[in-house]
Amino acid sequence: MHPPELRQHFASDNYAGICPEALHWLLQANASGHQPAYGDDGWTHRVSDRLRDLFQTDCDVYFVFNGTAANSLALAAMCQSYHAVICTPVAHIETDECGCPEFFSGGSKLLITEAESAQARRGKLTPEAIDFLATKRSDIHSPKPKVVSITQATELGTVYSVEEVCAIAAMAKRHHLKLHMDGARFANAVATLGCHPSDITWRAGVDVLCFGGTKNGLPVGEAVVFFDRELSADFAWRVKQAGQLASKMRFISAPWLGMLENDNWLRHARHANAMAQRLYAAIHEVPGVRVMHPPEANAVFAHLPRAVIDILHGQGWRFYEFIADGGCRLMCAWDTTPESVDAFAADLTAACTAQA
Ligand SMILES: *Cc1c(COP(=O)(O)O)cnc(C)c1O
Repeated sequence: MHPPELRQHFASDNYAGICPEALHWLLQANASGHQPAYGDDGWTHRVSDRLRDLFQTDCDVYFVFNGTAANSLALAAMCQSYHAVICTPVAHIETDECGCPEFFSGGSKLLITEAESAQARRGKLTPEAIDFLATKRSDIHSPKPKVVSITQATELGTVYSVEEVCAIAAMAKRHHLKLHMDGARFANAVATLGCHPSDITWRAGVDVLCFGGTKNGLPVGEAVVFFDRELSADFAWRVKQAGQLASKMRFISAPWLGMLENDNWLRHARHANAMAQRLYAAIHEVPGVRVMHPPEANAVFAHLPRAVIDILHGQGWRFYEFIADGGCRLMCAWDTTPESVDAFAADLTAACTAQA
């Protein structure tokens, strides 16, 4: 068990600290003396090249401070103010970005799919839903659909297969829509699929990927990866205007070297995913627990009795209960230990037993 001050939580993977490999390169960058500012340094060039190597294509790469900025600026780069972005009702851009995509695009509207279908309940967009929203209106009184945005892994801990992304991309292309991928947990999705990262992005038809690093062990920073390089015209100015251009860019970029070398990004994601599987195995048959679906990435979503939630919170465990009627999100991180999972599962089981 961790000493109390080092206790781990299941609220979010961004509760975790910096992974050793990222920290190593952060310190290396700091030991490299004076360097050009605003991204014109050797570290940033090197990491951008490593990302091009990783994706096996000549993509444009930008670094911003967080995922909200990455998504919002990427969408703004694809949209005029009168355009619309098709996404699910649980999309982070819809529920957790404080109107940032609308703000930076100057008014583009998010068009939300129905929450009723089986796929929607798993946080996924379908080609049918895209088709419906893309053709519902074509008059000038409604914003013009321009982009489809999917989240990989999804906000409900599920993962789109390569075939699903290809089918979504095909439908998007049919309606002349660009495809954006919110990859705050891209690593966890690739770890689950075991595919090459290019297979789930540009080879499948994704135009822009927001590649999350923070939740997988970076101190700060996400990469915006433009596979369709025409979309990145003037993006540097957009980043600067949004207050997202780090003058000491090397401290955002260099830690990526530690993630990318030896596929550490995948190792950390695989570990977080495995911890979610361990947690699922320990709790899904406990009376009172109703897991919404088996985990596909690094989170377990479960309905818990109100009293059990209160007991666990009273014991100091932190986790979100942000899904309607008691569904809790239990998120594992790159550094979540088996002991933490077991300790949480034991407390949860005891609380459920006390309630039964
Ligand atoms: C965490 C997260 C983001 C990024 O959020 P920030 O707090 O702005 O870094 C984006 N999309 C999803 C799905 C996320 O979970």
